[in-house]
Amino acid sequence: MRYISTRGQTEPVSGAEAILQGLAPDGGLFVPEHIPALPEGFFERIKTMDYPQRATAVLSFFLPEFGDLNALTREAYARFDGEPAPLAEYGKDVPLFLELWHGPTCAFKDMALQVLPRLVGAAKELTGETRDVYILTATSGDTGKAALEGFRDIPGTRVLVFYPEEGVSEVQKLQMVTQEGGNVGVCAVRGDFDDAQTGVKRVFANTERSGRFLLTSANSINLGRLLPQIAYYVSAYADFVQKYPERAARGNPDVYVPTGNFGNILAALYAKRLGVPLGRLVCVSNRNNVLTGVIQTGVYDRNRPLVRTTSPSMDILVSSNFERAVYLLSGCDSAFTRDCMQTLNSEGRYALNETTVNAMREEFDAVWRDDAQAEDAIRALYQRTGAVIDPHTATAAGAARDGIVVATAHPGKFPEAVQSALDGAEFPIPGVLLETKKKPRRFSDSVAPGEIEGYVKTFFGM
Ligand SMILES: *Cc1c(COP(=O)(O)O)cnc(C)c1O
Repeated sequence: MRYISTRGQTEPVSGAEAILQGLAPDGGLFVPEHIPALPEGFFERIKTMDYPQRATAVLSFFLPEFGDLNALTREAYARFDGEPAPLAEYGKDVPLFLELWHGPTCAFKDMALQVLPRLVGAAKELTGETRDVYILTATSGDTGKAALEGFRDIPGTRVLVFYPEEGVSEVQKLQMVTQEGGNVGVCAVRGDFDDAQTGVKRVFANTERSGRFLLTSANSINLGRLLPQIAYYVSAYADFVQKYPERAARGNPDVYVPTGNFGNILAALYAKRLGVPLGRLVCVSNRNNVLTGVIQTGVYDRNRPLVRTTSPSMDILVSSNFERAVYLLSGCDSAFTRDCMQTLNSEGRYALNETTVNAMREEFDAVWRDDAQAEDAIRALYQRTGAVIDPHTATAAGAARDGIVVATAHPGKFPEAVQSALDGAEFPIPGVLLETKKKPRRFSDSVAPGEIEGYVKTFFGM
């Protein structure tokens, strides 16, 4: 299996090289040259498998040269609290919830970021790469902590995370600034997520690839994030038909995904292309509803202020992974994709062509929910079932009547918003989140967006 850039100006590379590089040299994102098809009888075969085995089965389609991945996935999911990705039924007449927050940092980012460092290690062995790998990441809140936790004290790696100073929840900030490990750094940016992401992208664009270390990203632009995310949609469908035959009799499940950078829902599209019979993919945004706009009208327009919401991990105007969707849905038209991204860069907007708009409508629906609606959804579900969901999950839950809602964070990460929705009712907070309050704060640096590059150079000694 070879990987090519969405912008078409990079030679195809192996999966191992794509994972080590992060972004393609032409500025595009790596995508598989062909999407494989699930073999006949696949769901029957994975029925009795546990989650790490299912993840292995899916990853092996995309990374055959990595050999037996069973030990790798077993280790990656060992730190999860119980089943990594259960499809939970909170009540008969509410949607199912795919709970992706059982990992060590209580957000779905762990599903891939516990796997990525191990894929990076395996990729180094496969390619004979001996240089240290430096991980540079911008976070809207949850990626940063999950990346720090995934790479902490992994030999031959260092990791630096930038987060928007006023753009993350209190718990998210505490989780990051108390991070342990000898190879980690955390710095606040006096700006929003898009400022942080733009600053980080500039560093990548200006860094020589032949340096004495390898600079890569833990953001969802990295192929090593996308692939493990496909696995939970495959696993969820296996559980759906097996555990919920009455629901399955109603047809293929629509999937509601709280969306920011378009990474999670993109994995659902790949799962569909593999042959997983999912229904509509519903892209749910908060008030930063750029994606609702492009899916409904075909015009991507980021020319508007970013607003802060109670779902900070979705406070994004430039959704990096949408580029992969444009590429796929345009019929793998890399010239068109390149054009769109260049126009986005220069004008802050672009229009999709008819082919792409039509293909997009075949797969996606889009809706958005404001904070009050998310709050209502938290309250309504709690009153009906006693289940508590987080504000991100709630945007999607509020839009769903049936099907599967992807639950992206534990509500304990956003206690203020959740408690306000529940009129002060208490709910259990995981121990790992409570502990952050007692840990010493290790990181207090903050920079202006324009200072990101200098900070990175000093931190990594470039
Ligand atoms: C990252 C995140 C999202 C958005 O996921 P994308 O892959 O960026 O679309 C939604 N909810 C939570 C809790 C997150 O951490």
